[in-house]
Amino acid sequence: MQYDVIVIGAGAAGAVVAARVSEDSSRSVLLLEAGPYYPTTEQMPADLLDGNDNSYFAHDWNYEAATNVAGRMVHLPAGRVVGGSSAVNTAIALRGVPEDYDEWAAFGNDEWSWEKVLPYFRRLENDLDFDGDFHGRGGPIPIRRYPEDELVPVQRAFVRAMRELGYAETADNNDPHSTGLGLHAMNKQGRQRMSVAICYLEPVRHRLNLTIRGGCLTRRIIVDGGRATGVEVESGSTTQIVEGERIVLAAGAIGSPAILMRSGIGPEAHLRELDIDVVQNLPGVGENLDDHPMLAAVFEPKDGVLNDGDPVVQVTYRYSSPDGTERNDMQLMPVSQVRTRSGTLLYAIGSVIYRQKSIGRLTLRSADPHVHPHVEQRFLEHEDDVRRLVDGVRLALEVGSHEAFAHINDGIRTPPAAAIPDDEALAGWCKAVASSGFHPSCTAKMATADDPMGVVDQHLRVRGFDNLFVADASVMPKCPRANIHLTTVMIGERAGEWLREGVV
Ligand SMILES: Cc1cc2nc3c(=O)[nH]c(=O)nc-3n(C[C@H](O)[C@H](O)[C@H](O)COP(=O)(O)OP(=O)(O)OC[C@H]3O[C@@H](n4cnc5c(N)ncnc54)[C@H](O)[C@@H]3O)c2cc1C
Repeated sequence: MQYDVIVIGAGAAGAVVAARVSEDSSRSVLLLEAGPYYPTTEQMPADLLDGNDNSYFAHDWNYEAATNVAGRMVHLPAGRVVGGSSAVNTAIALRGVPEDYDEWAAFGNDEWSWEKVLPYFRRLENDLDFDGDFHGRGGPIPIRRYPEDELVPVQRAFVRAMRELGYAETADNNDPHSTGLGLHAMNKQGRQRMSVAICYLEPVRHRLNLTIRGGCLTRRIIVDGGRATGVEVESGSTTQIVEGERIVLAAGAIGSPAILMRSGIGPEAHLRELDIDVVQNLPGVGENLDDHPMLAAVFEPKDGVLNDGDPVVQVTYRYSSPDGTERNDMQLMPVSQVRTRSGTLLYAIGSVIYRQKSIGRLTLRSADPHVHPHVEQRFLEHEDDVRRLVDGVRLALEVGSHEAFAHINDGIRTPPAAAIPDDEALAGWCKAVASSGFHPSCTAKMATADDPMGVVDQHLRVRGFDNLFVADASVMPKCPRANIHLTTVMIGERAGEWLREGVV
């Protein structure tokens, strides 16, 4: 069996690539996904539809990441299902700021300047609240903001506290100039998460030139004579090879570098350690792991004020750290409810670094595709990150102690009381417990040929190949200052168009 385009991974980017390429009915497209495929909204299990909370376990890879505390591993969630992490996420639909994409261009990727990416951000959305030069109407993903009268108690108290404390406000977080307190733009319809599976794949599932296959684990890409010729796939109890003219890796920032390395494309010495035949020495594969480290001030609620099932997030405060030079490098976000392992409901104010200076990496533990890679987050290795997170936690405590929370707040659960008055102790606590904002990215970055750590060129071709591409969160050279789902969909839009139009 030979396809024009094989896309590996049906997540935020892969689903979009497959939907856009297959608009040309003369191109045969195979979309391969390790997780299950539920073709229609009616067939989807409740966890994939409930946009009020994340789905952490039912459709998950169970990846783990090493923390700063020796030996302590934490769960790093990632969706394993057609829809990928787009199908399990919080549905925050935020764009980066123009400076993020202009920085990608300044690295030599001039196709990715703000001016070049804006039309694709507009194309992917149907913004139900805002119109004009910066917003799209009629695109696949509906986006709206909760009206204030729909805010749940924790979110409402946060807005009131921030206003009374005099913090800046914005009407639209997705306006390129925005900063401050704003209602989150979200890809939800009512309670339903509007994933790429629903918005991009469900409407086109009858196309005869598009084959969508769940339950297909990609082991590796087959390379012959300097070209990617096919994909080795586990389907049911068999291992098969399927051939493609062009192959697009869209298995996410953990999955894509792992597949590249298993295919012999990666850091030579590391591949040799694992007895993998080296096809192309690319030292940047798996390096440059970026994310948005976060932690939360957690509060005990008064009896009966929290409702399990309320939307976990509705508003955010985007701000620039006081002595920082980068706009919107931080966010403060109220979390309506957090359930502890013992089942107690708490609430939180999360503090998140959106421009970290520390960088992680991932390596393979084994050439076996069933063994997950070793992920090292390395959060807060840089002192500037520590300082900003300490300040962020102090801000969370200040806001959370405001009178607007008096009817909800029954005390602080974390940080530990002893750490609060002491900057050094608070920094130690931050280093110990900072966790992923669930935005792993940048592990196969796009770069110009003179950057030894580059993995793909700006048209997303893997270095040394003309028919193998990566299109997902891995290719970002630096994580944007926003939750990265929309940016990843934008990457899928661009790659899909380039492949459909024969640009690549
Ligand atoms: C719990 C959670 C909450 C989040 N909340 C938000 C949010 O509110 N807003 C936001 O902007 N971002 C959020 N994110 C992040 C966002 O969803 C991801 O960054 C984005 O989906 C990444 O897109 P991707 O295409 O790179 O990877 P994914 O969407 O993860 O897609 C990768 C796909 O490849 C498949 N795959 C991987 N390996 C293989 C293999 N070997 N063979 C076959 N298939 C494979 C996976 O199963 C998956 O379907 C959240 C993420 C998580 C996990």
